[in-house]
Amino acid sequence: MRKQQRTILGNLSLLCCAVALTATGCVPKSSGAPGSAAADASGIPVGGNLLKNATFENGATLPWTTSFTPPANGSFVVTDGAACVTINEGGSNNWDAQIRHREMVVQEGHTYNVTFKIWADKPTMVRPKVGMAGPPYREYWNQTVKVTTTPQEVRGGFVMQSADDPTVEFAFHMGGAMMRETPAPVTICIDDIYMNDPDFVPPKGEAKIEVSPVRVNQLGYLPGAKKVASVVNSNQQPLAWSLIREGKTVAEGKTEVFGKDADSGDHLHLVDFTSFKETGAGYTLKVGDDESPVFAIKNDIYSSLKKDALHYFYHNRSGIEIAMPYAVEEKWARPAGHLGDKSIPCAPDAGCKYKLDVSKGWYDAGDHGKYVVNGGISVWTVMNQYERFKLQGGVDAFGDGKLNIPEGGNKVPDILDEARWEMEFMLGMQVPAGQPHAGMAHHKMHDVAWTALGLAPHEAEKVMKRHLRPVSTAATLNLAATAAQAARVFKPFDAAFATRCLKAAETAWAAAKKEPTIFADPKDGSSGGGPYDDKIVDDDFYWAAAELFVTTKKGQYGTEVRKSKHFKNFQTLSGSFPTSMTWGDTAALGSLSLALVPGALAAGERKAMRDRVVAAADSYLAVIDQQGYRTPFAASGNEYPWGSNSFVINNAIILAYAYDFTKKDKYLEGVVHSLDYLLGRNAMGQSYVSGYGSNPLRHPHHRFWSEQVDGRFPPAAPGALSGGPNSGLQDPYVQAAGLKGCAPQKCFLDHIEAWSVNEITINWNAPLAWVTGWIDQNASKAKAK
Ligand code: CA
Repeated sequence: MRKQQRTILGNLSLLCCAVALTATGCVPKSSGAPGSAAADASGIPVGGNLLKNATFENGATLPWTTSFTPPANGSFVVTDGAACVTINEGGSNNWDAQIRHREMVVQEGHTYNVTFKIWADKPTMVRPKVGMAGPPYREYWNQTVKVTTTPQEVRGGFVMQSADDPTVEFAFHMGGAMMRETPAPVTICIDDIYMNDPDFVPPKGEAKIEVSPVRVNQLGYLPGAKKVASVVNSNQQPLAWSLIREGKTVAEGKTEVFGKDADSGDHLHLVDFTSFKETGAGYTLKVGDDESPVFAIKNDIYSSLKKDALHYFYHNRSGIEIAMPYAVEEKWARPAGHLGDKSIPCAPDAGCKYKLDVSKGWYDAGDHGKYVVNGGISVWTVMNQYERFKLQGGVDAFGDGKLNIPEGGNKVPDILDEARWEMEFMLGMQVPAGQPHAGMAHHKMHDVAWTALGLAPHEAEKVMKRHLRPVSTAATLNLAATAAQAARVFKPFDAAFATRCLKAAETAWAAAKKEPTIFADPKDGSSGGGPYDDKIVDDDFYWAAAELFVTTKKGQYGTEVRKSKHFKNFQTLSGSFPTSMTWGDTAALGSLSLALVPGALAAGERKAMRDRVVAAADSYLAVIDQQGYRTPFAASGNEYPWGSNSFVINNAIILAYAYDFTKKDKYLEGVVHSLDYLLGRNAMGQSYVSGYGSNPLRHPHHRFWSEQVDGRFPPAAPGALSGGPNSGLQDPYVQAAGLKGCAPQKCFLDHIEAWSVNEITINWNAPLAWVTGWIDQNASKAKAK
């Protein structure tokens, strides 16, 4: 708010005396001229303002955010009570440099009056518009405004002639031709911005969640396992705690002062109530006046999450109707998406002329792209879950008819049916014989440009074409590895499919050996799909050789495995972050298959491989000990990476394997700690999983589960894991939210626009399914003291 205080917002007396307006969709031409709107004494139109943060009094720009299309760039801050965007480079299109406000509905037949103040540090042009946030970008109102160094008031208005539009945005396009006569940089400020509708009824705000300083696993604890809570409290002395049920204290003790936790910046105490082993629900933990959310102590707390985490993949299938009863509730049902994926052309720069059937598969994340690199680790993890349970016991939990999918009753374990949906897409990405790069795999296929949120898959292909991006060595090896793995797990159920997979795998292996240095362009991520670029492929060669060796026992693959530097070095760092596997670090996947499945390595070699897995698990136990929130992950350089929660959950897989291989309780406890962190015992007091916990993930970045931007769409189905805290803060929403400078574990916001901290994706949900399946099986085996 600049200059004077205005209190038009929420003034009900003004709402009730709105007069009929005469604006009829015309565009008032001159800036600063009075519009046709009825106005109060100070000149502000009457009615409720659809725009939040009209006066920028709180110092943040949200929900106004920037959008810069490279090379356009700039910054956006509240300065002196106004929102000011500095454009260093304006790009070629007007919209390459813009600020915008979404999350509102413009209703048919309603009248909207727009006013705002605008000025700049040098003369320039801007084009404010109200219109669709995504294709076909229909505009309901726009104006071209000459901006000077003197603040001017701009007025306009329109009557909404189209159907209600919940995808609408108010945007100021400021780049391209708008800056034709403006030497960059230019700083443009707006303030006192209103889009008033006399009949506007503000939506009911979401109840704000009070986050208790007593952080617990919001699902609960296993009776026999470690039970640790972290408590934010600046006191330097131990404090009394009590465990309460039905108003009665059932256990009590003293906290342990942990002190300052580096990754969160919180001063913490630890409560260990492991010795309390009674089962039940409705427990809270009290420290001083602070009381935790309610939680349970039971062995079955993961029995539904393990299924929902796997069901994520059904919900995100491409090329099939998501139908009842498999959709679980009608709101998640939808027609089949992207049926056109049966015939997708090469992109003009992809070096090929054919079309491929790349139908089926899972949508990668919040977008509708499908990527072989990332599909690889995801489908591997799902098939590895099957294989681990088959060899270690308990596979029936995921058997035929157990997962509420259309393939129930086909005599194939449902978890393999789900994996096959992705595997068939992966196979489709292989270059046919006789074509250039035959046997290689295309790196990815996706939309030719980014689409907006609030878009169902079956509508998406009406507004956006898709294409194949070029081949890459990394994708080819992802295909070789997973197709080899599929060949052995499918063999008992479908010999023909197994044979097809093995042939594709060996063909891909040979092609990658022939062309070992074709890498995806790291810049191939600005238009319609993520880059997933990976120039280091020695790990992918090792992984593919390992899977081929485990499946075929052929000496040539054994030789490749044993000569790789990864054979005797089990990874525990990705860059400087503690983890064993990511989509770009795949050597551990090969080592885990070698350690798990008998018959390829000699017995002594396999034992040594298992010892390396256990040693990696020991390194994660050491990390847990240093962390106030007891997570098997640590910041590096005071930063958390993109998808930090996936590092936590993948490290839990290593801890689980260490327990499988040794049966030592400490590794099971490590798995428990990992889940405790993800389900609420963390610096945000947030359960990062949708549908689970008292403060669950609500608004992940997802085009279909986009209720937050468009009430016609459903909320997230339960069991989806957010990527979580990320110091990079790459998206404009978190930047505008003022998260800059956040402690690593606090760089998080549960908002659909916050894609750099709150996306969901197949390679993060696959380990969630794996680990929750594992802990549910082993829950009663915990013997902590
Ligand atoms: Ca089945």
